[in-house]
Amino acid sequence: MRILPETALTYDDVLLVPQYSNVDSRRALSTKSPLTKKIILQAPIISANMDVVTESEMAITMAREGGIGIIHRFMTIAEQARQIERVKKAESFIVENPLTMSDQRTVGDVRRVVEETDTGGILILDQNEKLIGIVTTRDLLFEYSDDKLLTEIMTRKVHTAPPDTSLKEAERILHEHRIEKLPLVNHEGKVVGLITLKDIMKTTQYPKATKDAKGRLAVGAAVGVRDKEMRRVEAALQAGADCIVVDIAHGDSQLELDMLKNIRKHFPEAQIIGGNVATADGTKRLIDAGVDAVKVGVGPGSICVTRQVAGSGVPQLTAVIECAEAARASGTPIVADGGIRYPGDVAKAIAAGAQTVMIGSLLAGTDESPGMIMTRRGHRYKASRGMASLAANIERNKREGNDLSREEIEEYVAEGVEAAVPYRGKARETLTQLIGGLQSGMSYSGAKTIEEFQEKALFVRMTGSGLKESGPHDVEVLG
Ligand code: IMP
Repeated sequence: MRILPETALTYDDVLLVPQYSNVDSRRALSTKSPLTKKIILQAPIISANMDVVTESEMAITMAREGGIGIIHRFMTIAEQARQIERVKKAESFIVENPLTMSDQRTVGDVRRVVEETDTGGILILDQNEKLIGIVTTRDLLFEYSDDKLLTEIMTRKVHTAPPDTSLKEAERILHEHRIEKLPLVNHEGKVVGLITLKDIMKTTQYPKATKDAKGRLAVGAAVGVRDKEMRRVEAALQAGADCIVVDIAHGDSQLELDMLKNIRKHFPEAQIIGGNVATADGTKRLIDAGVDAVKVGVGPGSICVTRQVAGSGVPQLTAVIECAEAARASGTPIVADGGIRYPGDVAKAIAAGAQTVMIGSLLAGTDESPGMIMTRRGHRYKASRGMASLAANIERNKREGNDLSREEIEEYVAEGVEAAVPYRGKARETLTQLIGGLQSGMSYSGAKTIEEFQEKALFVRMTGSGLKESGPHDVEVLG
């Protein structure tokens, strides 16, 4: 047995000491920070890969706001791939597989397709698959009978552009001809894409959005460590996932290292986030196995009981400081995962050396998380739960076709709980508060960038009285 001489600290144990600042406008400070070596976020916040937090809806909002969402893995491989595709389709300025129909089809056919999808226009092709016209939802407003041929109602004069048309050029063409849709046609006359005004407008609506090289929103996918999970990795990457999070509670383990090496070998280009770890040695082992970011946090999560059940973990601020120090030489970014309760905690995590912060329960309470709003004694809530809770485990087994026996249920040692979290409205509002807190923290430390913040930050420890003084006190809080 050994015992470390230092006392480990967490967010509530410290404050950032205010320092001279010549920052004029806090809200103008750049919060740009790397998620992995290749993926840069304008807002360094990640929504957690939990089934109560991140599916496509959350991931779309996260990426639009400059962060990123990691689609959880507690669903089939095909369903996870569909979720990723939904994010990818949300906002690319080029629709890669636009809906097309042959010139033999009717108005009724289009009406059915428009009802099933939210497409606004269909390209009409002749027998040789050449573009001959376009039908938009606006055309369907006229009272045509369902059996009318599309060739009778379609617009025949279609403006097109070559496949490599830039966003700017597309904007110019759409504007010049007062049109909303621009099919991209290759030299053989085949349709290879479609640019729509609606999609272009979305790209300017979210200036901070995290995007891939094709202009699509970025998204990550969580995978487990068992061999069969390699199929999940492959499907996720094929669907367009920008990074893979290898998701395991104790990431400093041979299971994780083997999985990391396996992914690296088969998908050398993939951006891989490994974790979770809480020590410098664990961080180094993940880096040696080839990760592009290290996720830090054993036990800080709001719904986590690992520390009570296993007596294991490291208070999160110390864990982040130690892991960040170990990662610095290689330039591998750190994700501080779990335990964020206030915007000030984001500032502390990043000042401590993390490049990004992963958030679970705070986002579980928002509109974009899966699940319904519940009302209890006049207050609104949403559900949160640990992915290692009993309920999550029973459900996961059920989905995989195993109905757990009573004995198996009794034997399961849960490391997470089920909980209700206050309903918090739109995720965007929570993100605004979190990023605003980070910017204010930077400003109090006199820093204009995240790197400068990390260099200048000075922490002071506080006692329980200091913590008490740090929140509202001796007043009745009304709102
Ligand atoms: P939160 O932001 O404090 O809610 O923490 C979220 C993090 O808790 C997740 O990103 C996971 O790392 C962790 N977590 C999720 N489920 C469990 C669990 O069942 N036990 C322990 N940790 C969990």
